[in-house]
Amino acid sequence: MLKSNPSAQSSEATRRGAVGRSARAEAIYRSVFNAVVDQRLPPGAKLAEEQLGAIFDASRTIVRSALEALAHDHIVTIERHRGAFVSAPSVADAQDIFFSRKVVESAVAREVARRIGPADVAKLRALLAEEREALQRGERQKAIRLSGAFHVAVAAICGEGALTEFLRGLISRSSLVIALYGRGPASTCGHDEHLDFVDALEARDGERAAAAMAEHLDHIFDDLALAAQGDAPVDIAAILRP
Ligand SMILES: [Zn+2]
Repeated sequence: MLKSNPSAQSSEATRRGAVGRSARAEAIYRSVFNAVVDQRLPPGAKLAEEQLGAIFDASRTIVRSALEALAHDHIVTIERHRGAFVSAPSVADAQDIFFSRKVVESAVAREVARRIGPADVAKLRALLAEEREALQRGERQKAIRLSGAFHVAVAAICGEGALTEFLRGLISRSSLVIALYGRGPASTCGHDEHLDFVDALEARDGERAAAAMAEHLDHIFDDLALAAQGDAPVDIAAILRP
């Protein structure tokens, strides 16, 4: 019934992301997405269809479908007659995104503290060990990605449902905010704060975990320099070439 309705099917495909895209469009999506989240591709950078087509040896139709999927996920903004750009969240967007994370992740922390088991704790600690190693080696992009993965992994303890998907979107948008307003190397998640948070979860202390998460997100937000940034020229081909 619902399955025989083409529009319901296509919206389902959009929601699931990769399902509705060709393998090549998916590769472009991943490449741009990772470059943005890793902060190699800055907010405001223009993503010309023709240039992307040349970089990935793909048709305009395929490039367009990748860009539309990125726009759906708020990573790219498509402006009529001007083309596609890496989204540049405003100060108000930044406040909104971090406020949303605080509300969602504090509530998630309380629930996770009730549900968490030894295997979950071990998984979170393994992620933190990887994060510490990346920080010690000065691999900032990897550390940023692992920090995001840590926050998603916490939510996933409640199940891989709508909440985790919603949080994944908020976290990728936060990476854009940090790319735009971060003050440099210090603007990543505090590793020690992640450790304190896991200790609270392991102790099944929901209130302490919720408070630790709220404080952690406040620290990241307070560390942002919320003023407009300049536009530096960007070599898209060097950043994205597979
Ligand atoms: Zn964090």
